[in-house]
Amino acid sequence: MATGDERPDEETGSGGPTGQAVCIVDGAFKGLPGTLAGFDGDEILVDLDIFGRTTRVRMYQHQVSLSTTTRQRTIDPADYLPPARVQVFGMRATRPLPVDPVRFLPELASMARTTIRLHPHRGEPEAGDSSVGGPLLWPVTEEWPTCSVPYVDPGDFEVDLEHRRPVPLVPVLQLYQRDVAALPFPDGKDVLQVLWCPFDHRDDRGGTWPRPELYWRNEAATRAEGIGLTPNPPQDIPSGKVPQPCFVDPEQVTEYPYEDEDELRCLGDDRRLRLEDIKEQTGWSYQSHLSVAPGVKVGGWPGWTQWPDWPTCRCGRRMDHLLTVSSDEYDVESGLRWAPVVMVRADIDPRTDSISRGFSPTDLRIGDMGGMYLFICPKCPDAPWASRFDCC
Ligand SMILES: [Zn+2]
Ligand SMILES: [Zn+2]
Repeated sequence: MATGDERPDEETGSGGPTGQAVCIVDGAFKGLPGTLAGFDGDEILVDLDIFGRTTRVRMYQHQVSLSTTTRQRTIDPADYLPPARVQVFGMRATRPLPVDPVRFLPELASMARTTIRLHPHRGEPEAGDSSVGGPLLWPVTEEWPTCSVPYVDPGDFEVDLEHRRPVPLVPVLQLYQRDVAALPFPDGKDVLQVLWCPFDHRDDRGGTWPRPELYWRNEAATRAEGIGLTPNPPQDIPSGKVPQPCFVDPEQVTEYPYEDEDELRCLGDDRRLRLEDIKEQTGWSYQSHLSVAPGVKVGGWPGWTQWPDWPTCRCGRRMDHLLTVSSDEYDVESGLRWAPVVMVRADIDPRTDSISRGFSPTDLRIGDMGGMYLFICPKCPDAPWASRFDCC
């Protein structure tokens, strides 16, 4: 049910307490608060505010709870909107920092970093767009990369981890410099592409993950060669390993490190305890709400799901965080702060409000709900990179 009329028209058959707050308990707009607009036969008419536009939806009685007291909030009506056909920037702003953690721990001031949240959302990107899981700007003269792994004996218990034939890599992320100017592109390059083999491979640390590859390109030079087609992924790829095509909507936000990063651990437990005071005094959690942005992002602090695990470059320095690709954009806890304001109301209070579910527009499942973290050393001439994965 829940067919939306874009312009509320005359109330139809009203006779009930219109204007009363209601909460939709079932259907496509589940959890959203609305205003009772009237009745039409068996149906209840409800006005919803979606992206600042009043939209009238028709619901059956079992889908609507009449209530003036509900504090339950849900997120992301965009999840149910038709996929975007064109890229729109600037819609998904993160709410301002609700509490400044520097006030509780002044040492944090020097640890602030800027990250670019990419806010992936379902759509139909083309090769000329920045995207997650979209077609890539690939030169027609360059063969599409495949992953070949050695044959694994069927008697080996690891046989399911690796494929036995060459598999075309699948697009994970493509970013144009014009959309993410803060990303450190090497000289002469203005497109970054990340692909991976979607089958699990055992890495040298004992984990089993997709195997990523990273490409830097020059858009003009690539277009001059002619653009080839991005192949469809094979049918038998494990679920959750091919991101659904999404546009991005880049936004710069300030982050502070997770409590487990060395920068904070070296301060000692007594200072870190001050971060716990924030939750007691304000209801906002440093770890979930005030430190690191979840979701797909460029730069800033890695959005580790588990313990920090920074790679070291061959030159001896700790590599820089290039980008994070995570399974979800936020969960029910982190979404209170990090869900874009357009998807939840702006004055949310963590002591009384909640959201009903997380948001995973890409449908990725990296080690359940973990992430991939790419690192780079811009000091070395060939910009070496490394990857890390984790799971929750
Ligand atoms: Zn492979
Ligand atoms: Zn280096």
